[in-house]
Amino acid sequence: MALEPCIGLEVHVELDTESKMFCTCPNEFGAEPNARVCPVCLGLPGSLPAPNRKAVEYVIRTGLALNCQVAERCRFARKNYFYPDLAKNFQISQYDEPLTHDGYIEVEVSGETKRIRVRRAHLEEDTGKNIHMPDGRSLGEYNRCGVPLMEIVTEPDFTTAEQVREYLNMLRAILRYLGVSTADMEKGVMRAEPTINWIDRESGEKTPKVEIKNLNSIKSVYEAVKYELTRQHRAWDSDEELFQETRRWDENAQRTSPMRRKETADDYMYFPEPDLPPLAPEPEWVEEIRASLPELPRARARRVAAEYGLPEYDAEVLTSSRELADYYEAVAKLAPDAKVASNWVMGDMMAYLNQTGTDLAAFPVTPAELTELLELLAEGAINNPTAKDVFAKMTASGRGAREIVEAEGLQQIADTGELECLVEQAIEANPQSVEDYRGGKEKALGALVGAVMRASKGQANPRMVNELLRKKLSD
Ligand SMILES: [Zn+2]
Repeated sequence: MALEPCIGLEVHVELDTESKMFCTCPNEFGAEPNARVCPVCLGLPGSLPAPNRKAVEYVIRTGLALNCQVAERCRFARKNYFYPDLAKNFQISQYDEPLTHDGYIEVEVSGETKRIRVRRAHLEEDTGKNIHMPDGRSLGEYNRCGVPLMEIVTEPDFTTAEQVREYLNMLRAILRYLGVSTADMEKGVMRAEPTINWIDRESGEKTPKVEIKNLNSIKSVYEAVKYELTRQHRAWDSDEELFQETRRWDENAQRTSPMRRKETADDYMYFPEPDLPPLAPEPEWVEEIRASLPELPRARARRVAAEYGLPEYDAEVLTSSRELADYYEAVAKLAPDAKVASNWVMGDMMAYLNQTGTDLAAFPVTPAELTELLELLAEGAINNPTAKDVFAKMTASGRGAREIVEAEGLQQIADTGELECLVEQAIEANPQSVEDYRGGKEKALGALVGAVMRASKGQANPRMVNELLRKKLSD
C-alpha cells in the first residue's frame, strides 16, 4: 500500500498593535505581571469589548498578501472552555465566518514550486499564561489576555517537512514585510501547530490526525514533523493502535509524547459573540489596504535578481528582510558594481551584524558610506585586504572610507618604480623560492608575492606585483 503524508498547519501570530484587541490596555511585552489588564480583558461582569480597527486592518493586510478573499461581512464567535490562563472562561475568536479565506502561498523546495492553500486567516484574542514555579505552585499572568491574535490555517497540502519549513520561513518574511508582527517564534509571538497523518489515496484509509504543540522554532517544527511521520508510519506497519490526539514536542529528547486526546469543535460550544456586532469592512477601505501592500519577498527577490544581475541565491538572501533589501538596493543603485556590493553586504557586513549581535537599524555604516569604500576599491586606490581593514575601522569609528585611507596613508602602491624596488628585495632575500620557481614550481611564486605584500604592509597592488615578479624571474 502506498501511504502519502498529509500535513496541515495552524499558525498563531500576535499582532504588533499599540493596544489590545477589545480594550485600550497597551499591547506590550515584558511589563510587570498583571499590570496591563482591565475589566474587559479580564472579562469581569458588565464589561463590553470594542474591536481594535488596526488589528482588523492587519488581518485584512495579511489575508490580501496571502491571496485570500476578504469577507464582506463576518462575525466573532465565543469559544467556550475553562482553563486557568483564561479568566473569562471563553475566548473571542472566529468560527464559521472568518475575516479572510481561500488564499495560498507558493513555496519552493529543491527547485519545485508547491502551492499551499490557505483556508483562512482570522482574528481572535490571545489568552494569559500560567507560570509553573519550581516549588509546585502555578501563577496566573494575564498581561497577554486580549492581545490581538491572528490565526492562519492551511489545507493539509504539505507532503514533506521541508515544505512546512519553507512555508514558515516564507510566512514569517511576509508578516515582517507587511509590518503586522515581529513573528518571532522564539519569543512565542508566532506559534505553529502542525497536524499530521498518513493517507492511503487508493483505499482512502488514514491514520488518526495528530496535532503537535510546544514548538518554539521553525527548526523544531521541522524536526517534529519528520519524527511524527516516521512514528505513525512505523505504527501503521506494525498494526499498532494510533489515536487522534495532541502531542507535545520534547526538544531535548527530540521526540513527541502524548498530551491529551483531541477535542472536537463540539467540545467548545461555539456560538456567535453576543456583545459584538458583525464586522463588515467597507470595500473602499479594503482596496486602500490592497493598494498599500509592499512588494513581497518572492516578487522582490525576482526583481532584485533581474535588475542587478545577481544569482538567485544572492537575491534570496538579500531580500530575506525588508530592511536588508532596502539597504542593499540603496548601495547597489550607487555602487560601481552591484555584484561586488552584494558580496560585501552578504559577506563582511552580515558577518559584522552576526558577530556583534547588531540590528541592521543600528548598523553604523550608511549605504552611501559603504558605496564610498566600494568606489575606492573599484578605482584601485586600495586593494581588497586593505578594504577589509578600512571596513573594520569604519564600523568601529564611524569615519568615512576616504578619510581613513587618506589619514592613515593606506593607498595602494601602484608606482612601478617603488614596486620594482620591493620585488628586487624579495628576490634577493628568497633564493630558495626563486630557484624553485625557475625549476618549474609555479607555487613558489606565491611565497614571493607574499614577501612583497608584507614588505609593503599589504598596500602593494597584488596584480602588479605578480606581473613584475614573473617578468624579473624570466629575465
Ligand atoms: Zn484590558
